[in-house]
Amino acid sequence: MLNLLLKIQQNKETIKKTKEALKEESNNNFMRKMKKEFEQEKAKYKIIDSKLKEVRQNIEQLDKRLNNLKKEMDLEEAKLYGNLKYDLKFINTLEKSIKLKEHEIKSLEEDSLNALYEEENSLKEREISGRKLVDIKDEFYNHKKIINEKIIKAKEDIKIAEDNILNCEKKVPKKLLDKFNELCSVKGTGAAKLSNGVCLGCRMKVSAITIDDIKNNKDIVYCDNCGRIIHYHDK
Ligand SMILES: [Zn+2]
Repeated sequence: MLNLLLKIQQNKETIKKTKEALKEESNNNFMRKMKKEFEQEKAKYKIIDSKLKEVRQNIEQLDKRLNNLKKEMDLEEAKLYGNLKYDLKFINTLEKSIKLKEHEIKSLEEDSLNALYEEENSLKEREISGRKLVDIKDEFYNHKKIINEKIIKAKEDIKIAEDNILNCEKKVPKKLLDKFNELCSVKGTGAAKLSNGVCLGCRMKVSAITIDDIKNNKDIVYCDNCGRIIHYHDK
């Protein structure tokens, strides 16, 4: 009978420890940290992405300006080398204008090339950031899966322990169980084994009178130090 009480105690301890572990899992700092990391990377990705859009708009505008300039220059060259006769002053103006445009085209082409490099770099940066986001997401969900499995296992363990307790309680006389539960609510445990005259609940030697009570098979014997049940005689 004492063994049944000890078994109830063990299962109660298992439930307590499992519930504590569950509580710890539910306020998991690692998950929160990963979520924060993901948000930060996402913000970084957005910045890179909008920068890339800006660079691409810039390239488009540069191309438009270049095309327009080239067209204008073509027209001026057609006038200059065409068959129509112009006065020298006008020819000088045309030549100056063409030179200016040539210069501007060269500078725009340089800008355009730099913008293309910038586009390439932004693309690479965006790809790296995108991969990082996927990695963090994968890690997050893997971790979540592991935690969920732990929670399911813990709940199963608790259910088994609760069933064990119910099964044991059925076999314990009501008077003894009530006394045991009363002790449990005060001390945490209500029964203890006796080993060489020492109560394992409080690690104290019990008195000779108590030993006599056990020898005389008194129905419930308590430790005279801590009050836990150390013997029960089933009549
Ligand atoms: Zn004791």
